Amino acid sequence: MRNDTKLLPFAIDVRIIADCNMSCPFCFGPLRTLSIMPIDKAEEIIDIISSLNSRAIIISGGEPTLHEDLPLILKYAKSRKLLTVLSTNGLKLLEIIDEISNYVDWISLPIEAHSQSEHSKLRIGDKKHFNIVLDNMKYIRSNYSNIKLKVGTVVTKLNKNFISSIPDLFDSTIMPDVWKLYQVSYSNFALINKDNIHISNEEFDELSIIAEDHSTRHGIKFVTYSNRERNGKYLFVNPNGDALVIKDNDEYVIGNFFDNMDDVVSLSKRYVNTERLMDNFNKSYS
Ligand code: SF4
Repeated sequence: MRNDTKLLPFAIDVRIIADCNMSCPFCFGPLRTLSIMPIDKAEEIIDIISSLNSRAIIISGGEPTLHEDLPLILKYAKSRKLLTVLSTNGLKLLEIIDEISNYVDWISLPIEAHSQSEHSKLRIGDKKHFNIVLDNMKYIRSNYSNIKLKVGTVVTKLNKNFISSIPDLFDSTIMPDVWKLYQVSYSNFALINKDNIHISNEEFDELSIIAEDHSTRHGIKFVTYSNRERNGKYLFVNPNGDALVIKDNDEYVIGNFFDNMDDVVSLSKRYVNTERLMDNFNKSYS
């Protein structure tokens, strides 16, 4: 019989870099003071999670395309037979997409509103970002039928009136496989900006119903992630190896992948609900 006490959750979110080339007010990425995760440490984590029964890795940051070894990290994860997801803002994606195309199963890109002007209020750092994301989607759809696309939208006070029209952007050349709405949550940078971006649970629920209707009419699979269902759905790894779970709607360090894996394994069992994590993952990436 297999020893289930040694297992980790099905999917692990690994933040390989804290740095980013944007500064979004709702960002819940790791604090930028953390150093980049060296490739040997990234490979060590991949070895650990694949040996402890994880089957999927979501590579994020910060902005993971700023990590010069991202292609090698994805290649290594694929060599360990992990399903791979790259979560990126897309600014530099086209510079590496041809190199990573055989090693990435899903790419997740952000669109925050139906127009560049509204989108730019939340995605700060490059005024052309909205069109760059659409260009990314078109390029991937034209060239890589093996890569699936998820579009993510963080719902805040600033864009709540411009959400439901987002599916109107998608014609057959840029149709995503999944559109996911995230209720803004308050860790790290987002906590600092909470007063300007807060949206209530009730507002998010109402918007989700309207958005789902639009999404369904366009034939796009629709998923939501609200703060009420946030606890227990993720196991994150920061660039320094710290493992984090969501507890009481905030991030909580349970151990470190390089120093005390016993704590990571035992506490992830306490704080990660494997069924809810798998349900969240499967809805987002299948
Ligand atoms: S939300 Fe993403 S793109 Fe925006 S600042 Fe944070 S890591 Fe960068």
